[in-house]
Amino acid sequence: MLNCHNYFLYLQKIYDMSGSFDIRKWFGNPEELLVISGPCSVESREQLLMTAEGLSKIQRVKVLRGGIWKPRTRPDAFEGIGEEGLKWMREAKERFGFLTMTEVATPEHVELAMRYGIDIVWLGARTVVNPFSVQELADSLRGCDVLVFVKNPIAPDVKLWLGAIERLEGAGLKYIGAIHRGFSSYDETPYRNAPLWEIPIELLRLRHDIPIITDVSHICGCRELLQEVAQTALDMGTLGFMIETHNDPEHALTDANQQITPESLKKAFDKLTFRKKRVDVDEVVLQNYRKDIDEIDDELLNLIAKRMNISEKIGDFKKEHKVAVLQMDRWKSVLEDHINKGVKLGLDKDSVKEIFEIIHKDSIDRQL
Ligand code: PEP
Ligand code: MN
Repeated sequence: MLNCHNYFLYLQKIYDMSGSFDIRKWFGNPEELLVISGPCSVESREQLLMTAEGLSKIQRVKVLRGGIWKPRTRPDAFEGIGEEGLKWMREAKERFGFLTMTEVATPEHVELAMRYGIDIVWLGARTVVNPFSVQELADSLRGCDVLVFVKNPIAPDVKLWLGAIERLEGAGLKYIGAIHRGFSSYDETPYRNAPLWEIPIELLRLRHDIPIITDVSHICGCRELLQEVAQTALDMGTLGFMIETHNDPEHALTDANQQITPESLKKAFDKLTFRKKRVDVDEVVLQNYRKDIDEIDDELLNLIAKRMNISEKIGDFKKEHKVAVLQMDRWKSVLEDHINKGVKLGLDKDSVKEIFEIIHKDSIDRQL
């Protein structure tokens, strides 16, 4: 998930706003992540200020998050403290020098957030599924000097995620980032929201210029998995983290299972292993592997082209002899055979199936 150049500009904007960091030191430094932390929900002045004070001792944390209006699944749960919490966010910002960040889900939230000097807002996973809401928010953010992060929608739909980003761009917003927070799933997984790393990677493929950070808290749903998922995100090249912290996590009014204390956050950072983002010229071993991969890819392309040529000849034959293009029985047995062979070679069953389905579809298109 490396998209350094625009991330550089984005961080520059963030650090310009807080005026506390020389961005030149960041460039090329893999350890300089954008770290956003703070409680799931702002609950009381004391809770927010205690958490913020703890976080102020961790140099990495530049942005204080706090949910003011909470999108709850069931109607009887704590739905956020509302406007009053914004005053405490402003106080924490003045006292500890953080930038502040909250979720906005309606134009009224945007207006209030701006009134209390919130620097960064995010659109939540439930909001991003609804293009009407996103458009309304984009319109209400028009002209605001604010950074906006877009969480992935709860469904694994990269176009919906991208569409929300495009609506914000359409409203003239310049600083837009994405937050990967995992996806709802019926499959049994250890996560609250399955990470499905291929989705943020696909977003990055479509839009190299959008910085993506990882909300490990909402992916995990519990404290125990945080370290492992944060490491995976780092290995995938994430540009930053959103991690929920609370001065007394066990008694938090929302997401009590996944929040950690600022002290635990510091310890978690100390345990992370950072990899180099850029390869030194003398790393010959890696370069040789890459050369091998490039050669194999060339061979694969040549073989696919050769296969398509033969497939076209078969197509001509079928046309001449009035034979139907799609021979379902043959295709089923060919696919089964390929999957079995692939599995014996140590390949993933689903991947082999997907690869051959794409090849077969192309063959059929050509024969038609
Ligand atoms: C949150 O960050 O507290 C939150 C509600 O996030 P999401 O939209 O990812 O569920
Ligand atoms: Mn939360």
